[in-house]
Amino acid sequence: MKKTICGLMLVFACICAMAQQKPLIGISTGYSASENTASVRYTYVDAVVNAGGIPVLIPLAKDSLAAAEVISRVDGLILSGGEDVYPFFYGEEAASALGGVNYDRDRSDMWLLQTAVKLNKPVLGICRGEQLTNVTFGGTLYQDIPSQFPNRPVLQHGQRSSGTLPIHHVNVVKDSRLYEIMQQEQLAVNSFHHQAIKDVAPGFKVVATAPDGVIEAIEGFPQYNILAIQWHPEYFAQQGDAQWIKLFEDLVIRAGGSRPLLKNPNIRQPKIR
Ligand code: MN
Repeated sequence: MKKTICGLMLVFACICAMAQQKPLIGISTGYSASENTASVRYTYVDAVVNAGGIPVLIPLAKDSLAAAEVISRVDGLILSGGEDVYPFFYGEEAASALGGVNYDRDRSDMWLLQTAVKLNKPVLGICRGEQLTNVTFGGTLYQDIPSQFPNRPVLQHGQRSSGTLPIHHVNVVKDSRLYEIMQQEQLAVNSFHHQAIKDVAPGFKVVATAPDGVIEAIEGFPQYNILAIQWHPEYFAQQGDAQWIKLFEDLVIRAGGSRPLLKNPNIRQPKIR
């Protein structure tokens, strides 16, 4: 009898350990054709680690099958920041104040995002990732806030100080996932964008705005498993800020993971001879 109980307990412990495996969180990377590089700021990597996920950098996908293959292997996706979105994707000519665009990266990020939605993998869009999400699902952008946003003057959305310093506030809609996570109606955020959402894509709702009216966050629940924000919480999460780590933990939880589990395998430091 005792043996049976021990056996059952062992099976139960194994099942728990399996259920608790850390999820793989794919992070889209920047792509430079001239430099022939893929890269992403380390803030994203550390934020995922601090939230209990395993970060996996995703290089530019050169076709939709490559995007589908990598998305099928990860449990969640972060669309990282970067260049302006190519305006042809939302039916506009390029305004004179449009910044540099990266057609190949836009296409790759759209493939990653659309596959993630198809496979119901959760997505967190950050900055450009928020804008690209909106465009992918049929929304539009202000190509340049200072010259195009109707309510002027606008706040400083392209901050000239360190990313670890909040520069403006956002008002959070109470009936939202963002509020559920943060439990605050107002958040102090950093800001590194000169573009912003104009028309919100069907299926998404605005869940945060800056005091000047600039849209700062959208979410697609329940139709789309996507939260997308205009600021960069990874700067704060990298520094161990528990409040902002919650935003990444939410992605980890949506990706089916929970907190720790594996024992340290105690592999020795590489030896210097
Ligand atoms: Mn802003």
